[in-house]
Amino acid sequence: MSTTNSATIAQDIQRQTRPHDHNRADLDFRRPMPRPKVRGPVIDFHCHLLANRHATDWFDAAAHYGIDCFLSMTPLEEVVGLLRDWGRTDDNPARLQFIAVARWGDALTQQAWVDDFLVRLEAFYNLGSRIVKFHSAPGTMVARGLRLDSPLLCRVFDEAVSRKMAIMTHLGDPDTWYHGKYTDTAKYGTREEHYQMWEGVMRQYPGVPWVGAHMGGNPEDLGRLQDLLDRYPDLVLDCSATRWMVREISARRDAAREFFIRNQDRILFGSDQVSGDDRGFDFLASRFWAHRKLWETAYVGPTPIFDPDLPEDQQPVLRGLALPDVVLQKIYHDNPVRFLAKVGMTVGGWG
Ligand SMILES: [Zn+2]
Repeated sequence: MSTTNSATIAQDIQRQTRPHDHNRADLDFRRPMPRPKVRGPVIDFHCHLLANRHATDWFDAAAHYGIDCFLSMTPLEEVVGLLRDWGRTDDNPARLQFIAVARWGDALTQQAWVDDFLVRLEAFYNLGSRIVKFHSAPGTMVARGLRLDSPLLCRVFDEAVSRKMAIMTHLGDPDTWYHGKYTDTAKYGTREEHYQMWEGVMRQYPGVPWVGAHMGGNPEDLGRLQDLLDRYPDLVLDCSATRWMVREISARRDAAREFFIRNQDRILFGSDQVSGDDRGFDFLASRFWAHRKLWETAYVGPTPIFDPDLPEDQQPVLRGLALPDVVLQKIYHDNPVRFLAKVGMTVGGWG
């Protein structure tokens, strides 16, 4: 018994003193890693640099891991400062660009929130954005009382499409959440209903370039994603969200690798990195590290990032896809450049 007790105490101490939940493997994130084998800048198509005061650590970590350009969902209030201080360098005139987003958080009536979204859309457009994000995860739709296909939101879709902008949608969420916090289907609906709703909206806007965030919100079901890609030629998927992708791509590694190779023209790299006041170099580095191991290498081993969706003793093993160079070239660079060109986003120097 005393052995068990002291082992438990040692674990407790270790848990208290370990470097948080982003470096469980005790890595030195500052060790050099070669840049991705890509011609031209590497583009992170889905991220959240939330404030100018986070940018120094952000760009340090990004430079270390060879990530050059960002399509960020930043609150409008922070955009001008970021553009002024970090928007371009002499050799990278489009380092930081923005995806138009609604106001997040605190309560407004639905009508006022949509009116505010339209004002923000115009402001983002005037600052160069040509893509708008709709966050319609199950929890968000319930919290806001607005479905993706609600007539109020239709005003924002119409405005974006009349401006010839592209659309990004977050539909779905991890299976672990559908089996956890969304089990009250009377309140949240079912995954099937959510995807029918999404398809209904996509059918209203044929020809509009469209990004399905986080592997269309369902990396657990590659068959569903293939069906969507086959039936909606304007749809591409971003592979953002670190813990979700590490867990679910690794869990079906061989099928996922086949999927990426088969659909190599339809996938954009994204990290879903989110900056924060308590997120320094190592936290930010952990996300870039995990993505690069997952897409580029045949690494099989522990992930440095704790996955709160799984118990402590069932943490995922990261299984890298070791994607062929030609596929990496497309997801890191060629596909995002081609997608942005469709909506006339300036990609000077990105050719
Ligand atoms: Zn995101």
